Amino acid sequence: MNKLSNFIGGEFVSPSEDKYLDGINPATEDVFYLLPASTATDVEKAVSAAQNALPKWSALPPRKRAEYLFEIADLIEKHADELAQLESQDQGKPVWLARSMDIERSALNFRFFAECINQTVSASTHIPGQELNFVISQPIGVCGLISPWNLPLYLLSWKIAPAIATGNTVVCKPSEWTSLTAFRLCQLIAEQTRLPKGVINMVFGTGQDAGEPLVKDPRVKAISFTGGTVTGRKINLLCAQQLKKVSLELGGKNATLVMADADLKAAVAGSLRAAFLNQGEICLCGSRLLVHEDIYDPFIELLIAEVAKLTVGDPSQRESFMGPLVSRGHMEKVLSYMELAKQTGYVLSKGSRLMPKSGYFVEPMVVGELPPTSPLWFEEVFGPLVAVQKFRTEQEAVQLANQVEYGLSASVWSENLTTAMRVSERLEVGTVWVNTWLARDLRMPFGGVKSSGVGREGGEWSLKFFTEPKTICLHY
Ligand code: NAD
Repeated sequence: MNKLSNFIGGEFVSPSEDKYLDGINPATEDVFYLLPASTATDVEKAVSAAQNALPKWSALPPRKRAEYLFEIADLIEKHADELAQLESQDQGKPVWLARSMDIERSALNFRFFAECINQTVSASTHIPGQELNFVISQPIGVCGLISPWNLPLYLLSWKIAPAIATGNTVVCKPSEWTSLTAFRLCQLIAEQTRLPKGVINMVFGTGQDAGEPLVKDPRVKAISFTGGTVTGRKINLLCAQQLKKVSLELGGKNATLVMADADLKAAVAGSLRAAFLNQGEICLCGSRLLVHEDIYDPFIELLIAEVAKLTVGDPSQRESFMGPLVSRGHMEKVLSYMELAKQTGYVLSKGSRLMPKSGYFVEPMVVGELPPTSPLWFEEVFGPLVAVQKFRTEQEAVQLANQVEYGLSASVWSENLTTAMRVSERLEVGTVWVNTWLARDLRMPFGGVKSSGVGREGGEWSLKFFTEPKTICLHY
């Protein structure tokens, strides 16, 4: 059995209490590795290692730090097939998706921030003959990076890259449900790069036992967290006590709005992808589908025909559009929402557990005619379940889209630019896609409003989060 260790100060070390958690393959339900059940003692060691590495790392010229990031990007690309396999075995997503989305993006995250840090210039003001003011951006120090299970390496690398590019050192706590690619990345870095020891540290284990001590450690100067809203609130409270800088990327209950003049085929294809890609386990998934009454019937007919063509199955096979859900607990949660949908709505496409020999495979579900107060409109299911609703006016569509506590993203399907812009301006979210979904330009800010988060990641927003600006006034 593959036994993972923590990665602290460039060394692979066992957890102090020598206890381990099971790493389960959701397609087979086999325990195929063990991960450290780390505690505060392990976190303390990792923070010390990060603190020791900080002075030298932060003193390097950005160009030099960028070289290391390019090296890591190359390494991920070189091992992309292997990493995609591991991500799929650990998380459940099909290998093709892990390869084309997660791993490709993980490499790009390092490449992108290496390029960014080579391009940044700072502001200055000049009062002729008297004064020059200029800003230097300094690293914050040791940063704690906490990531979820749905896009494991993709989201963790999205935090590591800007944090170390800007001269910080990091202690990462990946999700206890998906630790494998983070561990493998540490191995690759240790074996094949010259990255100084202690710049990246990794502590595995639960949120309670390893995540919380990381948040509470006063030597950790900033926390970048992606995960659920309930956890985010807890972390925000802990950070507030120490006035610690915090970035929170949280849950979503995103709407897809299909306007009367939408290109029907494109809107169906886009809505389908938005609802079910990655088994519906993406914070940006469009789990509420609002369709104008004029095109509702043909839209639903086409949608159901397309859902029927989706293959749920062996994630190693190219034809599988969806693999299993991440864990038994999560599958049970999703199935309970599906049961509620069956009892209270009109099921257009049945979702139920598929019963091959083993695995947490669940068919996609489309449900309509739910009561307006149904939890299925308001609560994040984070699985292959989409609720559809007819609307009459643009005003009603916007009101329905905005009625939830979340505000992460939305997509609008319309052939009319004026309609699309008018609706986009009124949606209470951090990102609106028009006639597309999930397209990301890494230079743009990403994040949520309302209960979907605090702060933005991406390009200069990430660089700003991981640095403190200092104004120097030079009188002459
Ligand atoms: P989660 O909140 O349960 O866990 C996320 C991480 O936080 C894990 O590493 C976990 O171990 C850790 N954690 C849990 N309790 C903690 C605590 N008390 N202190 C410190 N760390 C703690 O979320 P999840 O189930 O892993 O992920 C799914 C959620 O993440 C969904 O709500 C989804 O919408 C959200 N998400 C958001 C984004 C975004 O960019 N906004 C992206 C992906 C996922």
